[in-house]
Amino acid sequence: MPQATAIQVPKQRQRALLVGVFVDGATAKDEFEASLDELEALADTAGAIVVGRVVQRRREIDPAFFVGRGKAEQIAEECDRSNIDLVIFDHELSPAQARNLEQVVKRRVIDRTELILDIFARRARTKQAKLQVELARLEYELPRLRHMWTHLSRTEGAPGVRGGPGEQQLELDRRRAYRKIAELQRQLREINKRVELRIQRRMDLFTVALVGYTNVGKSTLMNALTKAGVYVEDKLFATLDATTRVLVLKHGQKVLLTDTVGFINKLPPQLIASFHATLAEVRYADLLLHVADVTHPRMEEQVRVVEQTLIDIGASGKPTIMVLNKSDLLPPEVDREALRKRFCDACIVSALTGEGLEELKERIEAEYRRQRQTGAEAILPLSCGWLIRWVYEHASVLSEEVSDGLLRMNLLIEKPLAAKLQSMCEDSCDGARLIIKG
Ligand code: GDP
Ligand code: MG
Repeated sequence: MPQATAIQVPKQRQRALLVGVFVDGATAKDEFEASLDELEALADTAGAIVVGRVVQRRREIDPAFFVGRGKAEQIAEECDRSNIDLVIFDHELSPAQARNLEQVVKRRVIDRTELILDIFARRARTKQAKLQVELARLEYELPRLRHMWTHLSRTEGAPGVRGGPGEQQLELDRRRAYRKIAELQRQLREINKRVELRIQRRMDLFTVALVGYTNVGKSTLMNALTKAGVYVEDKLFATLDATTRVLVLKHGQKVLLTDTVGFINKLPPQLIASFHATLAEVRYADLLLHVADVTHPRMEEQVRVVEQTLIDIGASGKPTIMVLNKSDLLPPEVDREALRKRFCDACIVSALTGEGLEELKERIEAEYRRQRQTGAEAILPLSCGWLIRWVYEHASVLSEEVSDGLLRMNLLIEKPLAAKLQSMCEDSCDGARLIIKG
């Protein structure tokens, strides 16, 4: 039967076998399964077809083959039987383990990190993202140079074992890699400097960053809130480059909304390091929207991974609104109030149908006000026309009334502007007053 499917499959899609090792006491059973499911989704995103899974239970990892030698031979047989091009381990393999496994299995053997690096390489769009991915890949490959494969995206449909290069060649390759890494780091520093400058220049603008596990609907939410036309796909890591758009709130306040790359469990450290600049968007943000997929069976774990990643990149402790997305898929019997309470007073929304988005915008506005604005009451003589015009231009007027030649206005105003208006009232217009309410 597998032969029949193989004929219909386009030649360039590699047939992959997943391998997971369940170490006694190290992980919970369902966590182990979920990790393999995620690996399958990652393989699919990378364009491979997952043909099967091999699972082994061990007391400890085999230093030479990760799985035992016998199991490696079984994997080799399974590869022959099912016409496998590529074996993907759900664990980080040491360079030696990968090499030993490839010798037995006679196929390309990669680990989770390499798979994720491959996806990032395919998805990078901007110069910055491309440099970041290339750097991460070189750093990953350097210790593995002895047995390096040309990259997945360049060898589509052409799997096979490559002979090891001679020692001299290896030294040359290593030196070339070091030089290339230094060059990439230099280029990235240049770009990062520009990015930091850009971020600093707009410091006066309130910035909201969307963070969350991959595929929870961040880009869709960004589109729904700003009609931005950001690329959305049911694939892991559709967005690698931070995209920023203006979001206008109800009282005319303009804030910046930034979409970011999604986080994932066991995100390769090389990637975190090289995506430093992209993640700067998150570090500098005034408010985070932590988006979660409320229909995902592992939502709580994904939320924890995101929180840990935020700590790792130095962005924890920021004001955060928890957003539970995809509410359109919630069964009616689910108690939304309980859900909301369980996740820090979360906002329950559907980026697809628009449910809850108004409330979310109000919550963003409330946070904006708390950080940046103050309530105030201005009492201005109607004769101070220029001052009244200034107030209309620089503040949101919530209500107003006229009595005895005085205009009384309830305002929302930026904190620095409130101080300015106060001194303008005192200095330049008889009888004008501003009472700041805090
Ligand atoms: P990201 O990786 O977090 O940016 O996720 P995307 O915005 O790319 O969306 C991932 C998938 O979830 C896409 O197939 C979206 O159409 C889908 N999606 C996003 N928001 C919703 C929602 O509110 N309801 C439903 N049913 N699907 C959604
Ligand atoms: Mg996205």
